[in-house]
Amino acid sequence: MQNYPWERPTMDDFLREAEEKFSNLFNLDIAQITDAIQSACAFFGLSYPNMVLNLSRQPKGGTMVYNLDPETDADDILCYDLNQLMALGITNKDSFSLIMTHECAHRYFQGYDFPGLNNGQWEQELACDFCMGARAALEHMNIEKVVRGLGRTQGADTHPDGDLRAEAITGGYDVMLYFLKNNIAPTVANCIRGFNDFRATYEPTIFAREQRYLKK
Ligand SMILES: [Zn+2]
Repeated sequence: MQNYPWERPTMDDFLREAEEKFSNLFNLDIAQITDAIQSACAFFGLSYPNMVLNLSRQPKGGTMVYNLDPETDADDILCYDLNQLMALGITNKDSFSLIMTHECAHRYFQGYDFPGLNNGQWEQELACDFCMGARAALEHMNIEKVVRGLGRTQGADTHPDGDLRAEAITGGYDVMLYFLKNNIAPTVANCIRGFNDFRATYEPTIFAREQRYLKK
């Protein structure tokens, strides 16, 4: 059957149009998204996640990683939600890739025991933010959008206050610049050492703030 331009658009047409409109808004196509995730994995020496889910059209979407078995990173499921990220001002490839770096840090740290309240919940989040900043400095990526976006998020028992997260990102950025300037290997292991110093400095603040959320 011949296709006439005045035929009613199908659901597929509608979805394709929506997809194009949406990716134009965010300025990323699927190849760039894959590359942004791939390069985030590479910073930690991790393989591409077992499964990557685009939750951007789900009403209850979100950007997160499911570690499943903490003994292995081979079964990790990475989810991203471009709508949620756009609301945070994450609107280009670098800032998206930096958010993916945070999620990949969760993959890297699965099975790690972080010190602190609530099984080191806030500490792990801050360590992931710290690594994000460190990668940005190493790969000449701009941290403005992630600092501003995450910096204004509300804290909870699961996540630190935004201002602390912003400090962790810039802390990681600065530590990587220090490594590069002083010929210290820019490894994840050294980033973790840098994070331990950061944590020692901020420990009283982290403790006092986190306690408030846990009491609620
Ligand atoms: Zn996180």
